[in-house]
Amino acid sequence: MTQDEYITKAPTLTIYDGLVKAQSVLEQYKNILVSVSGGADSDCMIDIVEHLTPKDSSHKVTYVWFDTGVEMNATKRHLTFLEDKYGIAIQRERGKMQVAGAVRTVGYPFYSKQFAEYIYRLQKHGFQWEDEPFDVLCAKYPNCKAALRWWCNAWKDEPHKPLQTEIASAKFLKEFMIENPPTFNISSRCCNESKKKVGDAVRKKYGGDIQLIGIRKAEGGARSTGVKSCMTDGAHGKQYYPLFWWKAEDKAAFEATYNIVHSDAYTVYGCKRTGCAGCPFAGHFEDELAMLHQYEPKLANAVEHIFSPAYDYTRAYRKFKKEHKGNIL
Ligand code: SF4
Repeated sequence: MTQDEYITKAPTLTIYDGLVKAQSVLEQYKNILVSVSGGADSDCMIDIVEHLTPKDSSHKVTYVWFDTGVEMNATKRHLTFLEDKYGIAIQRERGKMQVAGAVRTVGYPFYSKQFAEYIYRLQKHGFQWEDEPFDVLCAKYPNCKAALRWWCNAWKDEPHKPLQTEIASAKFLKEFMIENPPTFNISSRCCNESKKKVGDAVRKKYGGDIQLIGIRKAEGGARSTGVKSCMTDGAHGKQYYPLFWWKAEDKAAFEATYNIVHSDAYTVYGCKRTGCAGCPFAGHFEDELAMLHQYEPKLANAVEHIFSPAYDYTRAYRKFKKEHKGNIL
């Protein structure tokens, strides 16, 4: 299939525009680094890169997958499938620290990235989980104002509905933490150690004029909400996101038109996402654990062990919340 034939098949205007842009980027840059995750978006991205990169000796494409140490076998099998399907090689890279070591060193994920970051800052300042007004706590712990605003729900002066940056947006979490201060380190920094640092090392190792990543704005979450357009040029060098403007329906249409096959994680296990198995930041980690016990029992046992303090604390909080909700009704 020629590039033009490939683009002409585009089932939606958003995809058509995206493919035209991708064609121009892939023509312009000669040394292209592609981050493969083994997930659904990454599958679509590889198909685009393989069809729209000029097949001449001046263009080099390097595919890289980061192994965080808690990846499903389904994902690893899928990498081999992709290599066979497109005749490509996907480099497997791991950082100095994988998830198991990272959580022990920098702290465990809990609730959400933002909350975990605030808890980390408070723990660093020896916070005693006191239920005091913001000003009192500020005088006592002067160097962690933002985290104290989170704890005291003090991002605005006047009475207001809890903001996402305030602990009150998580029902009964403050009450729970006062009664049950965390006895283990919490933080959002596991991603930095297990993913971001290896990303930096890989960019150094393989070079590359540009890095392609399969994020979509519509997916939400920290990964895409900080990004404003399909092309950025910042601390991590030039990055391009070929699927950035796709909505879920564009993706579904693309998959059907171009016969994209996803990993067993989606088609057999029923996952909605891939990546780090059982990460406690995923609110539905209990469902994920049940799925892992069914299909990947060794990994299930491993993550139960790796994340155990975070799981225990989350379960205790959920129980607490349920009991206290019952008291209100
Ligand atoms: S997604 Fe979760 S387990 Fe994976 S690196 Fe980030 S915090 Fe760690």
